[in-house]
Amino acid sequence: MTTTDSAAQRPSCEVPAAAPGMPAAQRTRAQLADGREIFFFDDAPRRRTVQDRREISRPVGGNEMRYDPLLREWVAIAAARQHRTHLPATEECPLCPSTPERATEVPQDQYDVVVFENRFPSFRGDIPIPEDLLSTTTAAQETAGLRQPGSGRCEVVCFTDQHSSALAQVSLRRMRTVLDAWADRTAAMLAEPGVEQVYCFENRGEEIGVTLNHPHGQIYGYPFITPRTRTLLDSAADFRARRGADLFTEILAGEVADGRRIVARTEHWTAFVPAWARWPVELHIYPHRAVQRLPELTDAERDDFAALYLDLLRRGDALFDGPLPYISGWQQAPASAEPGLMRLHLQLFSIRRAQNKLKYLAGSESGMGVFINDIAPEETARRLVAIGPQTAESGSATPTDTEETR
Ligand SMILES: [Zn+2]
Repeated sequence: MTTTDSAAQRPSCEVPAAAPGMPAAQRTRAQLADGREIFFFDDAPRRRTVQDRREISRPVGGNEMRYDPLLREWVAIAAARQHRTHLPATEECPLCPSTPERATEVPQDQYDVVVFENRFPSFRGDIPIPEDLLSTTTAAQETAGLRQPGSGRCEVVCFTDQHSSALAQVSLRRMRTVLDAWADRTAAMLAEPGVEQVYCFENRGEEIGVTLNHPHGQIYGYPFITPRTRTLLDSAADFRARRGADLFTEILAGEVADGRRIVARTEHWTAFVPAWARWPVELHIYPHRAVQRLPELTDAERDDFAALYLDLLRRGDALFDGPLPYISGWQQAPASAEPGLMRLHLQLFSIRRAQNKLKYLAGSESGMGVFINDIAPEETARRLVAIGPQTAESGSATPTDTEETR
C-alpha cells in the first residue's frame, strides 16, 4: 500500500503556525518486499506507485543487547551485520534507484530523499527494556552481562539518487527536504514502543568507516538513553540546580559574547567550535530558540538551517582541499527526558587534522575516554571563518567524482 501526505502535517510534530518559506516535503509511505517500511520525501508534490518485485525475506533474530556492569551501558550484538554489503562497485550500489535490469533497495527509477528500514540493523525490536531490570535479577546475572532481546529501530536515509554526489552538493531545497525527513522520522520513531531516543546522523568518508559510498545517513532509534545523552541531561540538571540557569542558553550566550570561536551566525542558528573541542575539526550548531527535538522547528528555522548547514559542509570540504571525512549528528531529547532540560543541537566533527593526517582514537581516547586535541579550538574556528561563506555558486573544492573508489 502506498500513502501520501505532507511531512509537516503529522499530528505528532509540534510545528507552530507556518511562517513564509519553502513548503514541507511531501511524504509517500510504502513497503519493501520483505515487509520493511520505506518513505519517499519529495521536494515537490509527486505521485509515486511503489512495487518491490524482489524475492527477499527479513532474517529472523540475530539482535541482542548485553549489559556492561562496569560502565552501566548497553552493548548491541548484531552478528548479521558482519555479512553486510561492503563498498560495492558503483553498478552494484544498493542505494541507487532500481533499473529494469537491477532491483536495488529503492524500487523507483528516481527519488529525491528516501528513508527505509535498515536490512542489517544494529537495533531491531519492539520490546522495551524493563525499568526494574536490575532489581529483579541476581548479582551473578548482572555481572555475567544481562541479555535483552534486540530492540529499537534503524533506518537508512539517502540524500540524493546521484551516487557520486555528496550532501554538501545538494540544492537548498533538497537540504530542506532532508531536514523534513529527519524531523518526520524523529516524531514517528519516538512514538514506537521500544524506542527511547532518536539519533539522526551521517558518517561521511571511508576514513570514518562507511561501507557504502552513496550519499546517505542513518537514523537510530535506541531502546534506552545513550550514555552521552544521559551525561548531558545530568549536567544540565546539575547546572540548573547550582546556578539557577539553563546550561545550553549560557553556553550559547558565552560563545556569542566571546566571539572567537563563532564560525557563522544566522537569524535562527549559531555555529561555533566549543571551547573544549575534542576533535581537530568540531562544530556545534545551536538553534536560538530552546527547542528539544527536530519536529518542533518552524519552517523559517528549517530553511535557515538548510542554508547554513550547506555553507558549513562546503567550508569543511575547503579546509583540506578535498572531501572532509566527518561524523555529524543531532543531539535531541529522549522521550522520557524532563521537559525543557535538553536543547536540540547538531554536533559535527572530523578525524582529519591535516592534509594527509588523521586523528586516531588511541590509548588515552579509546582506553580512558580522555581526548587530546592537537589544534586549539580558536584556531579551528579562525580557519573556518577565513574560508568565507560557500554558497552553491561559489562552489566547493570537492570534485564529486573522487568519492568513488574504483
Ligand atoms: Zn548508489
